[in-house]
Amino acid sequence: FENLLTFHHQMEAVSHIAAGVAHELRNPLSVIKGFMQLAKLTGDHEKYYDTVISELNRMNNIIEDFLSVSRKKIDRKQQSPVHIMESLIEIIKAECLLHDVNLTLEISEVDQLVYVNESMVKQVMLNLLRNSIEAYGGSNTSREFKIKSYPCETVYKVIITDNGKGMPNHVLEQLGKPFFTTKESGTGIGIPLCKKIIEDHGGEFTIESELNVGTTVTLTLPFTSYNQ
Ligand code: ADP
Ligand code: MG
Repeated sequence: FENLLTFHHQMEAVSHIAAGVAHELRNPLSVIKGFMQLAKLTGDHEKYYDTVISELNRMNNIIEDFLSVSRKKIDRKQQSPVHIMESLIEIIKAECLLHDVNLTLEISEVDQLVYVNESMVKQVMLNLLRNSIEAYGGSNTSREFKIKSYPCETVYKVIITDNGKGMPNHVLEQLGKPFFTTKESGTGIGIPLCKKIIEDHGGEFTIESELNVGTTVTLTLPFTSYNQ
């Protein structure tokens, strides 16, 4: 019965997001339509290509971000949080290598287990890394990405830090609102979904950031002995 409730809750979340995604896709679609009509009327095609391509990219990102979550099976298992972190490391290392990011890892051992959907937790971590990669400046400072995790009373805590451009207050205030983005081809789905996934697991998700210094995300996963 409890499983059914969780399932219902999660399906509700997915359909809520689906409605938002459909709504969000209409904006770039109408921009594309308008620009195509203009191109046809004026015969001036070149001028409109960049906008059309950038709107198509945005649509693609929205669909990618959405599918990556709705596609996941939502069953959970009791697992070691350390095992989850370790199975993530290979992809994270590869991504960091590809984007010239220095990775620091401090993963503390723990005997206790967490009750999670592993692929959803992975999705959260990869989303956060992607945001960091998009926040690094192009210049001379090295790009640092740090993952520190350790048991803390009733939870396993994961702290993720970057030294990217950080966020001004007006961005921090909006953060977590679905579809809020400051990027040209952004979707604004990443952070709300990360928050939703962690909260559905009974954990907490918080973000601190300082402009021109960097961003720190803290998430917690409750140990099974303290969770339902
Ligand atoms: P998207 O990445 O598609 O814009 P997100 O929900 O992932 O959507 O992020 C929302 C906004 O939060 C981003 O557009 C960006 O302005 C800000 N943001 C998120 N993570 C970071 C980060 N690590 N550093 C700086 N800004 C960030
Ligand atoms: Mg993002």
